Parts: sequence; C-alpha cells; structure tokens
Amino acid sequence: MSSFHFPPSMLPLTIAEPVGKAWTHIIKSYSPATIEFAGTLIVQLIFFWGPCIIYMSLDKLFPRFSERHKIQPAPKQPTRSEIFDCLSVVLKNQVLSTTLHGLLIYISTLTGKGAFRVDSSIPPVHEIIRDLLFSLLLREALFYYSHRVLHHPRLYPKIHKIHHRFTAPVALAAQYAHPIEQIVANILPITIPPQILNSHILTFWIFMAYELIETTTVHSGYDFFLNAAKMHDLHHEKFLIYFGAIGVLDWFHGTDGSKMAAKRKAKGVVAGKGVSQEQVSAVVKESKSD
Ligand SMILES: [Zn+2]
Ligand SMILES: [Zn+2]
Repeated sequence: MSSFHFPPSMLPLTIAEPVGKAWTHIIKSYSPATIEFAGTLIVQLIFFWGPCIIYMSLDKLFPRFSERHKIQPAPKQPTRSEIFDCLSVVLKNQVLSTTLHGLLIYISTLTGKGAFRVDSSIPPVHEIIRDLLFSLLLREALFYYSHRVLHHPRLYPKIHKIHHRFTAPVALAAQYAHPIEQIVANILPITIPPQILNSHILTFWIFMAYELIETTTVHSGYDFFLNAAKMHDLHHEKFLIYFGAIGVLDWFHGTDGSKMAAKRKAKGVVAGKGVSQEQVSAVVKESKSD
C-alpha cells in the first residue's frame, strides 16, 4: 500500500483549501454529535432521494429514452399505488434508521467513545482509499451472507419477501424492506466496516454516499453504468441468484446464475418465467450441493 501514501497536502489545492476551511468552520460551530447526526442525515437525503427522483422521473420526462434503457418490459413495472406504498415503507425505514443513529450517538456521548472520528483534521488520501477498499469488501461479505440468510425458507416469508415484492424494481424499492432487513442487510453492512477502522466521519460519508448511489442504481431497473443493475435486477426477477453487490462471492459460491439456471433446467422450470422462491427452494433442497 506504500504507493498510496500521498500526504494530505497532495489533495488538489483547489479542493483541499475550501474543504479544509469549511470543515474547520463546521467543527468550531457544532458538537461532534450534531455533526455526525446532521451530516449523515444530509448525505442520506441527497444521495438516496436525489438518485431516486432522477431515475423515477425519467419515464415521465424522457419516455422514449427510458423505454430504450429499461431492463424489464413495461407490463412488469410497478403501478402508481405500489409506488406510493413503497414510499410509505421507505419513509418509515428512514425514520427507523435516523432514530437508531440518534440513540447510538447519544449512548456514545455518555461513554465518550464515538464510532467515527469527528475532529478538525481532513483524512489523508491514502487513508480514505484504504478505508473505502476495506469497507467495500467487508460490506460485500456482510451483505452477501445476511442476504442469503434472509432467503432461508423459514425467514423469507416473514421478512425478505417484502423486498421481493418488486420483481421489476425501481430505485425507491432499494429500501422497501421489513425493518429487520433494513437493519441487518441495509444499515449494518454499510456502518460496521468503517466503525471497525474508526474511520474519519468524512470517509464514512463518502462511503455511504457511494453505497446509496449504488443501491439506488442497481434497483433502478435501467441498464446505465455498464449495466450495473443487471445482476440485482435478475435477483429480483429470479430470486436465488446474485445475492451480492460486486459479484465476487456469487462467483465463489456458484450463485452467479449459471449454476441455478442448470438446476432449473434439470427440474424443467423455464428460466425467465418469474420463478417463485418456493419453487427454487424446492430445487435447492433436492440438489443440496451448495
Ligand atoms: Zn433488492
Ligand atoms: Zn433477495
């Protein structure tokens, strides 16, 4: 990692100077608890709702462009009432996340041990890159395995089935989930890795912003960014494939689609017909190979 050891002064001066000044002003004006709480909420509002509004207004603003890039056909898209239901669940989940975050910050002010570093320094570039890479890989593992656990036949009907209501997902459906799933699969995989490293709060916000853009993009239903949504879109459509975000663990565990397609073929289940979790669970139970 020695090649990444740029001193903080190597940040482009045009960016480093105003960022440094603004950050010093914020640190002098507010308590670390207020900065962590308000900053995290602002990142959530901008980087979740921003992409959601952009993706979900495309079919109204540019219908022909939208049609060309939609992964799944129009008849499979959610109805207006389904979107409103999605909106109310997502708002409840965000109230839950924000309340939990507030409680954790309150506890950390009592114990004097904050989860993130909130001080006047700007983290050096090499530290930001190191923390982001570590967080990205650990998030993949935490998300992949918690997601697979949520597909266990005993847990799926009670918890994860809600998220799978949208077989043709839209960006907002990224946080359409049971509250337990919201905590276990959405919040913890993103917050645990930078907390292990005691990352700087600015690094956490960069990571969180990236993950929010990623999750809204993979649920967007569009083939943008080199078809980044294809894997997770297929997961929503066909259930027991592509549990991860990056794809490394799907490749490692053989859940990258090819193996499941072979199993379904062997059972005579036609691929692409919207196979139910129950059908695929039965196939998996019989093969018991993974
Ligand atoms: Zn999803
Ligand atoms: Zn799933």
